[in-house]
Amino acid sequence: MPDITLDTRLAEIVGGKTATEIESAFGLVTARDLLHHFPRRYTKRGELTPLTGLPLGEQATVVAQVLRVTERRMQAKRGSIIEAEITDGTGILSLTWFNQPWRAKDLAVGQRGVFAGKVGQYRGKLQLAHPDYRMFEADADVPGDEALRAAAVKAWAETPEPIYPATARVKSWHLADAIGLVLDALPSIEEPLPAELLAAAGAAEERGSAEPLLGFHDALQRIHRPQNESQISSARRSLQFREAFDLQLALLDRKRRAAHENTRSRPEHPDGLVALLDSALSFALTGDQQTVGAEIATDLSAQRPMHRLLQGEVGSGKTLIALRAMLQVAESGGQSALLAPTEVLAAQHLRSIVEMLGPELADQMSPVLITGQLSTAERKRALLDVAAGAARIVVGTHALMSETTTFFDLGLIVIDEQHRFGVEQREALRRKGGAPPHVLVMTATPIPRTVALTAFGDLDVSTIRELPPGRPPIETHSVPILEHPTWGERTWQRAGEEIAAGRQVYVVCPAISPSIAEDDAAGEESAADDEREAEVAAPIANVEETLAELRLHPALSRYRAEALTGALSAEEKERTMTAFARGEIDILVATTVIEVGVNVPNASLMIVRDAERFGISQLHQLRGRVGRGSQPGLCLLLTRAEPESDARARIEAVAATRDGFALAEIDVELRNEGDILGVAQSGGRSSLRLLRVMRDRDVLEHARSLAQSLLERDPELRSAPLLARQLAEQWERIENLRKS
Ligand code: ADP
Ligand code: MG
Repeated sequence: MPDITLDTRLAEIVGGKTATEIESAFGLVTARDLLHHFPRRYTKRGELTPLTGLPLGEQATVVAQVLRVTERRMQAKRGSIIEAEITDGTGILSLTWFNQPWRAKDLAVGQRGVFAGKVGQYRGKLQLAHPDYRMFEADADVPGDEALRAAAVKAWAETPEPIYPATARVKSWHLADAIGLVLDALPSIEEPLPAELLAAAGAAEERGSAEPLLGFHDALQRIHRPQNESQISSARRSLQFREAFDLQLALLDRKRRAAHENTRSRPEHPDGLVALLDSALSFALTGDQQTVGAEIATDLSAQRPMHRLLQGEVGSGKTLIALRAMLQVAESGGQSALLAPTEVLAAQHLRSIVEMLGPELADQMSPVLITGQLSTAERKRALLDVAAGAARIVVGTHALMSETTTFFDLGLIVIDEQHRFGVEQREALRRKGGAPPHVLVMTATPIPRTVALTAFGDLDVSTIRELPPGRPPIETHSVPILEHPTWGERTWQRAGEEIAAGRQVYVVCPAISPSIAEDDAAGEESAADDEREAEVAAPIANVEETLAELRLHPALSRYRAEALTGALSAEEKERTMTAFARGEIDILVATTVIEVGVNVPNASLMIVRDAERFGISQLHQLRGRVGRGSQPGLCLLLTRAEPESDARARIEAVAATRDGFALAEIDVELRNEGDILGVAQSGGRSSLRLLRVMRDRDVLEHARSLAQSLLERDPELRSAPLLARQLAEQWERIENLRKS
């Protein structure tokens, strides 16, 4: 048998069946992957999980004690039922099995174990039907001496028992068993960090003690098989630093390499094309546009390729900034490619670019569109224009990246909405030019600073905060309908008034029908999770019932209301949207499908029901659907959340500010850290594991500075060959973080 290493595939260690199950549940393939599937929490064998407040309908893993076990014959059918009750000392959970009489022997009264299953209810009692369980073995060879025995029992009771992120199929203890096999099979795990870095990582860290960081081998052993609490914390500290360090090293390495690349400088010309464009505009650039424009102009003039992220909300004038950059590049005969995530957006970009350029400049730039929808003849012509260099501006979707596209002199790539394009695709485009092109990535989603540091640390960042003047205001109010029952009714009256004045209304609900959430329709399956918050008992506001209600409502029944959800076919959606845009529908009752890309200037009122179900950025995006025409917008956030709750704080934050950047920061602070940057998925190889972007800001910054100095000392990482090998792997994670 070949030596087992961290790169050995799981199948070779835990067997094919288990490996397949673990891979399909979590995407974990190698020993390294599995050892980085860390416990979500620990329980002690002597400690019991509170059984009250278990989330109904969800997968739960609990530690409890068997209270009683009964076996009885079924009356109607043949067969037997085993019923057991387990307790945490306060609550009771009942377990049932049909026709499995041997269970009675496993479940000795008074014994403790871990139980896992879906939490249901039967005759008012909480229940796990056909649960899986594993009983804790009372220590077999207990010493005869009374005092020693007491000590052994105490040690047994206090040993932390890891609870892993699990699914209905792959239980926490299945993972523990597999991880145990891997740990036993691995002789010793090689330390990837150079010794002086271990010392520096431990010593300089302000929060922790001054001891060197725990070695990799010990850290992995202890996080999975701790003997006591303090082992857990030193292991976490070590692994958390490593996680931050690996990310920062990959980001900084890319940044460093990019800085050493050479490209063609695209200098500014004071009286050139950019000045021509500016002078033809009917407005002045905002202060932020000027600042960012100057940053980009300087980047383009340099001989190293630009790698810049430009963030600014929809309508903040990013496209104009990108266009100015394209003109600067065109000045020296260079071409620019603008990549959009969809055909619709690409076509929209081309139209607005042609419009902004005006006839004369448009003629000189000959902008072309390349998408998958072109006819063969159109495509051929466009490709020729690009290859000959006549088209200075090329707008397209990923079709642009196909091998048939060749540029004459590609100087700049602009990517709209970064997260849809991976590094690899970007690289493919970069290879199309001779010298590496400048890259400008644009995003309308504000990225908080810590998140930028974690996931975009290889890019320079520019921000447009200011919106151009003259945009109609949007007023936002929180409407707590439990405290003010009449306000709900008043909301519908207000909708009626708005429509009577000739305008249109959105009503957004978190669910499609009483039983279908929008997520379900989109086919997203949420992973089972033992720590999800318990569901609110009241039914969720949904499109189906809301539509029926509004059609009967005295203030609204005379108006046309229609539904728009992810359950409709693409054609139906399109038809409904077009009808709404034409004013043939007065009230659009929808799920968040309307969040992006919808522009109906006549819509002036946005009503969100059960607003507590949405995140800050979703609410902010939703309200951006109104106030797009000449009319001021109004956004009413209906909620049944408790006054002092986090959900209420989110809603009130949105009501209090329109600044998307401020909201993004508040969001990160208020959100359960677990929801940020892909931590929400239960484990998996590409999410953050122990690192939390807000809480661990110091760790991130410390790791960044140590990674920076390592790269300065030893740019090729000769002193740390293991780190060098792992660099490439980090990019899969970084890509994933950027998508979340
Ligand atoms: P973004 O790409 O950030 O969504 P755009 O560049 O498409 O924003 O700009 C949105 C609209 O605002 C466009 O019609 C554009 O012409 C206009 N605009 C851009 N900058 C300004 C400005 N400084 N003053 C007034 N209008 C502007
Ligand atoms: Mg835009």
